[in-house]
Amino acid sequence: MKYINFLFLFISLPLFSWQGEVNNLISRPYLSNRHIEFLQRICDEAGGRLAGTWENEKALSILKEMAKEDGLDVRFEQFQFPGWLRGNDSLFSLKPRFKELRCVGLGYNAPSEPIEAEVVYANFGYTDNYETLDVRNKIVLVNQERPPNREELLRYEAIEIASKKGAKAILFINNKNGGLLLAGVGNFQGTPNPIPAFSITYEDGQYLLRLIRKGIKPIVFVKSNSVCVQSTSHNAIYTIPGKLKQKIVVGAHIDSWDISQGAVDNGVGSAVLYGLALNLSQYKDYKYTIEFVWFNAEELGLWGSKRYVEKHNKDVVLAINLDMPGDPRGINLMGFDYLRPFFDSTLAKIKGFNLENGVQNSPWTNSDHMYFMFEGIPSLTMLGWMEESMYRHYHDFGDYFDKVNKNYITNAIAFLSVVIYSLANDFNDFKRLSREEVKNLLKKHNLESRLRKQKEWIFD
Ligand SMILES: [Zn+2]
Repeated sequence: MKYINFLFLFISLPLFSWQGEVNNLISRPYLSNRHIEFLQRICDEAGGRLAGTWENEKALSILKEMAKEDGLDVRFEQFQFPGWLRGNDSLFSLKPRFKELRCVGLGYNAPSEPIEAEVVYANFGYTDNYETLDVRNKIVLVNQERPPNREELLRYEAIEIASKKGAKAILFINNKNGGLLLAGVGNFQGTPNPIPAFSITYEDGQYLLRLIRKGIKPIVFVKSNSVCVQSTSHNAIYTIPGKLKQKIVVGAHIDSWDISQGAVDNGVGSAVLYGLALNLSQYKDYKYTIEFVWFNAEELGLWGSKRYVEKHNKDVVLAINLDMPGDPRGINLMGFDYLRPFFDSTLAKIKGFNLENGVQNSPWTNSDHMYFMFEGIPSLTMLGWMEESMYRHYHDFGDYFDKVNKNYITNAIAFLSVVIYSLANDFNDFKRLSREEVKNLLKKHNLESRLRKQKEWIFD
């Protein structure tokens, strides 16, 4: 009898304690408001956190201050990158009538001469759209969205084509209506755009287009006052040392576009990361080291994560990226399929979340996991859901704190805490893909052509 009791205890204790810790990991975020407070402060007290600006540095100081209050030692790691600062740009329609056009200059626009020129419509902006057009010394108007049956044309390519054809500037008509704009970079290298490029509203775009189609030649005035400047920024890092030096990196970019508060993109991810750091710091005896990294300068071209990977990649066994995470629905293995059995069993142990998307494999690029992926480091994201009203103002003026469903942040912290806790304690088979395997993974998921266009294909 004694022997049986002993055996019973031996078998059930680890399971019982795992469940006890899971209960704590899941419930603790719902008993705290710190992650929401953090989000509100970086939105309202800092604001649009373009890397290299006062707002961005302010957000970092809020992070450091709050983390200190919560007993977390956050440190900064400085890096250089090709910075960019928005000037007070001008875009006016002069003829047939004077009207200020709402616009947002694309990242890496350089200062321009005052330009006064006729606007011509080049449809989608592909080279063949210029066959019957003379755009020399004119301003080109193109659609933001490309036709689904044609090869993708990035804004960067449309800018290059228009410039080569002799245009003085380019205007992208937003495909979302309602006065919205779409901020973004004009190229991925951080070099000055060859001509000034602007996102304009759907409504102003349609207005100009109607004039052109009626044979009325609109004359527009453009002056870019933005500047490209070598800049300094910081990644913010909090580490929970494990028994092993090898580390699991959990990251979210804290920078955003300057025109809004960057609440959904990516205040939300930064707040989830804050809550995760707080929750997981309650335990100290992890097998793997866990490193929480608030990456910087993501929006201007993933500069913070690029610098981090250059410096630390040899110790990293896994990267989890939280970019606009939403309400948890599952895990995206990003093509690192060997992790599937672990995640299938981990997710099966957590009832109560709506994990209807389960474990999927849909690799994508152009966020902070990309350079980890290129090194063959298993990279994951959370599959999440959010309503249209939450992401509608993506890269637009309206991405403010009021758009955020705060429950999703808490749910994501609870869910991911269990996932990361399990990975840091129970997983023991992290392996990197070889360069050839990464190349094949990217090819298999049709990411090669996009990366080539961005000049980021490093696998030849
Ligand atoms: Zn983002």
